[in-house]
Amino acid sequence: MPIHVLSAQLASQIAAGEVVERPSSVVKELVENAIDAGASVVNVDVRGGGRQLIQVADDGCGIPAAEIETAFLRHATSKLTTSDDLKAIHTLGFRGEALAAIAAVSQVTVVSRTAEETTGTRLTLDGGHITAQDNVGAPQGTVIAVEQLFYNIPARLKFLKSVNTEKRLIDEFVTRYALAYPNIRFRLVHDNRISFQTSGNGRVPDVLVAIYGPDTARQLLPLAEEQGSEGENVTPAPLYPSALAEKPIAVTGYVGPPSLHWANRSHITLFVNGRAIRDNSLTYAVIQAYHTLLPTGRYPLGIIFIQVPPEDVDVNVHPAKTEVRFHRANSVFGAVQRAVRQTLVADSPIRSMTAWQVGSSTEATSPGWAGQLDPQAFARREEDAQPGLGLDWSRQGSDDWTETSPTPTPPPQPNLGGERLPIMRVVGQVGAAYIITEGPDGMFLIDQHAAHERILYEQFMAQWAKNAIVSQSLMAGTAVHLSPPQATLLEEHLHTLGQIGFQVEPFGPNAFMVRAIPAILAKQDPAQVLLTVVEDLERGDAPLQGKIEDRIILRVCKSAAVKAGQTLSQREMEAMIQQLEACHSPHTCPHGRPTLIHLSVAQLARQFGRI
Ligand code: ADP
Ligand code: MG
Repeated sequence: MPIHVLSAQLASQIAAGEVVERPSSVVKELVENAIDAGASVVNVDVRGGGRQLIQVADDGCGIPAAEIETAFLRHATSKLTTSDDLKAIHTLGFRGEALAAIAAVSQVTVVSRTAEETTGTRLTLDGGHITAQDNVGAPQGTVIAVEQLFYNIPARLKFLKSVNTEKRLIDEFVTRYALAYPNIRFRLVHDNRISFQTSGNGRVPDVLVAIYGPDTARQLLPLAEEQGSEGENVTPAPLYPSALAEKPIAVTGYVGPPSLHWANRSHITLFVNGRAIRDNSLTYAVIQAYHTLLPTGRYPLGIIFIQVPPEDVDVNVHPAKTEVRFHRANSVFGAVQRAVRQTLVADSPIRSMTAWQVGSSTEATSPGWAGQLDPQAFARREEDAQPGLGLDWSRQGSDDWTETSPTPTPPPQPNLGGERLPIMRVVGQVGAAYIITEGPDGMFLIDQHAAHERILYEQFMAQWAKNAIVSQSLMAGTAVHLSPPQATLLEEHLHTLGQIGFQVEPFGPNAFMVRAIPAILAKQDPAQVLLTVVEDLERGDAPLQGKIEDRIILRVCKSAAVKAGQTLSQREMEAMIQQLEACHSPHTCPHGRPTLIHLSVAQLARQFGRI
């Protein structure tokens, strides 16, 4: 094929692909335009996860009738005139590409009126071509409706994820901007149902409640101002980003206490000068500030507003404008890390103690030292400290908190003379975490949590195989409030949860009512269990259906199992050992870690130098 210049149509479709990757990118561009237009109200209506309709209405400055056609041309903007302007960007948009890109791949209707005009202008476009323009009555502001997104690019349509995934991405985006602009009243509606709204009263804590629910929001810590800033570091810095303009690098926002942790990084949100950005290095700065405070493979919650002089940051890196380059990247990294760390350290010790206690077993019968420890951290430390008994296989047990490590290969089994366990006699408990038993050939040290997980797992799978999972109704039901993305995710899996013994119903916007839980969880806090299940679902991309069920079952068993730190009575230990003896695979927990260490009579003799 000879070299030729692409048709304008094709060139604009290609260019559009960089700006408009998926429905959430359309929402992002339209919401950013509304913010740039000085809106105080932004209403986002979505149908079919954005494929059928995305409509953003604002009460901003409006587009004058004489300019409305121009707004849809490529590289047409009112926000930039000279290349000097590019050095210090004060608006979210500046490339003049979004409207052209969106119009090229959809059917657009825009209605807009400025304060000076008496009637509004309506313009419709199909695949970027204007099909009609007329005058209509309209309030001041702009309404842009985008229908049939990607109808003329089947290749892109094919790569869109499920409706629910797209909804979740839109939720994530709108909630982020609601946080950065608490003075704007946001409303997000999916398929005629309000999924999220804020009051626009300017208070970030109120937005946090709307997103995370009162329980989580109450625990969040405002970032302390950097030390050394004229002794006013006790007062949390003002949160509205523009209030911080005179500082060279200002970091404000909220972080979760160490007791709040999640399976992935999606709860760390970064803003630079009021723009939501993605930045691995700064995300890492937040995570690093929690060093040693969180279990491995768990991530904190952070909403971080960074304010730098506009000339110190280049936002013109990618058409989507979600990546930025800092002129002083190291200073920004340091400022973020310090701000978060100082807040965590300043958080009163009493509060962190309670936090740890909540994080560990609430049922712990021993209120002593063990109750304050995160059971997982405890278990890991013990594992690391295996004495040199020639049993180094036990170290291979990997940590099932770590999302990156798949189920570890089961360690080689010690020679126990067969797969089943011998009959054992309970001797006692060590460190409120291990049971010591005596068998026909020496002694066993049993990890009570791992063993119980194995027992519950086999019982649960047996019920599951017979389609007879016993579920326990909750008399009053328990309401659980989720963030909009989590709510969408949970909704997607309500059916699967139903099969596993949960009865969960939608209960208002982003809230659910737990009416029944699997009977083995009867003693657990239903809200907490549901939250951990949702977190598990949040990990990575949706795998095959079967795997999701497996994962939920594993989580249920893990939640229901006794924890390290829980003192057990002689009878409870005996019951547990009997049940473990009855298991088909008693040597490992469902995650593949060993449940027990065997010390044979011969090994004991060798260790004591008897032979
Ligand atoms: P950019 O935002 O980079 O300038 P866009 O293609 O997104 O480019 O928008 C083009 C122009 O249309 C903007 O510069 C602005 O003048 C106008 N515009 C777009 N959306 C709105 C809106 N919601 N309210 C007022 N003006 C708008
Ligand atoms: Mg724009």
